[in-house]
Amino acid sequence: MPVTSTREADVLRRQDPELAEILFGELDRQSTTLQLIAAENFTSPAVLAALGSPLANKYAEGYPGARHHGGCELVDLAERAAVDRARALFGAEHANVQSHSGSSAVLAAYAALLRPGDTVLAMGLPFGGHLTHGSPANFSGRWFDFVGYGVDAETGLIDYDQVRTLARTHRPKAVVCGSISYPRHIDHAAFREIADEVGAYLIADAAHPIGLVAGGAAPSPVPYADVVCATTHKVLRGPRGGMLLCGSELAERVDRAVFPFTQGGAQMHTIAAKAVAFGEAATPGFRAYARQVVANARALAAQLRARGLVVTTGGTDTHLLTVDPAPFGVEGRAARGRLAAAGLVMDACALPHGDARGLRLGTAAVTTQGMDEPEMERIAALLAEVLAQGGQAQQVREDVRELTGRFPPYPARQG
Ligand SMILES: *Cc1c(COP(=O)(O)O)cnc(C)c1O
Repeated sequence: MPVTSTREADVLRRQDPELAEILFGELDRQSTTLQLIAAENFTSPAVLAALGSPLANKYAEGYPGARHHGGCELVDLAERAAVDRARALFGAEHANVQSHSGSSAVLAAYAALLRPGDTVLAMGLPFGGHLTHGSPANFSGRWFDFVGYGVDAETGLIDYDQVRTLARTHRPKAVVCGSISYPRHIDHAAFREIADEVGAYLIADAAHPIGLVAGGAAPSPVPYADVVCATTHKVLRGPRGGMLLCGSELAERVDRAVFPFTQGGAQMHTIAAKAVAFGEAATPGFRAYARQVVANARALAAQLRARGLVVTTGGTDTHLLTVDPAPFGVEGRAARGRLAAAGLVMDACALPHGDARGLRLGTAAVTTQGMDEPEMERIAALLAEVLAQGGQAQQVREDVRELTGRFPPYPARQG
């Protein structure tokens, strides 16, 4: 059923060659360049099949057993499976799997616990806070009064004493832990203690590490946070979407914050795909995957350091790392462009020191492709070569093609 299979591909090609060309061009791009964007991954053909299924046709406002539409018997089973699997996977009393995205999940968490005008303490955006952590361009910055904590300028690590001091000064209604680029484990117990001291809720925005948590490769925020928000499409390798986890006492508030407060009809094809992904994440194979994702990120960090890049915090505990390419005389945004032209696709990102931007890389996608430490060494060498050459990277593009050719993300596909 996914576009990676021949039959569906033929249907699309016949009916709409224009869109078929775009879709297959994108599949080719993903297969022949290195996907090092820390938030990306390759979902399985089973997840893609659920996403492309007729569940996409079904309206299902409400929750299983309490819908505003008829004909929901089967999609109810899909959502119940997704909820049960999420609860089991994360040891959570309650799960809501309807959020359309990670940002929607954060919005719902705020809606469940806060009122407009409340003070919220979260990681500042220049240090790795997400848009939903108080950006003036986002609902969060307009509707709430955000105070930002940073990281230590020397070590790049969260300064828990600073977080505590800010909490005591500003008395937030909620403390948010979680980041788009923090490469180390978060001390959830420390955040819980700080939140308790000032009577604040603790919201863990685990959009990035939740897949590592599922695979036992990162500490879980579930025992500590009042509400955990997450995505399902990053390391977790499911469909693009969000979810929330909480204790039974907040279950009803969280559910009402998702529907009807911030969303309408649930996307049942995506929820079915989430159930498939949770099923995959509960396997020993996924645990091994999560461990390898971290091993690969550590190897990549060490190899990049050895080649002269400055690695924030000196390394990583997770799937992502941020590096400063300044020793090569190039800033993050320009470096990103050069690297992309050579087939190494990643993000520019803020760095904890100074104004210049760095690069953020992740190993979730390349690890799904089956790459291990030797390939991380190769990727680091190619990256350093591009930065050193300053644009003459045609040979690297060929080398990337050769490397990705040995690790096809969808091996069974027949164009
Ligand atoms: C990715 C991310 C989100 C948002 O996810 P979307 O699905 O893009 O809306 C929210 N918070 C953090 C920390 C993230 O990394």
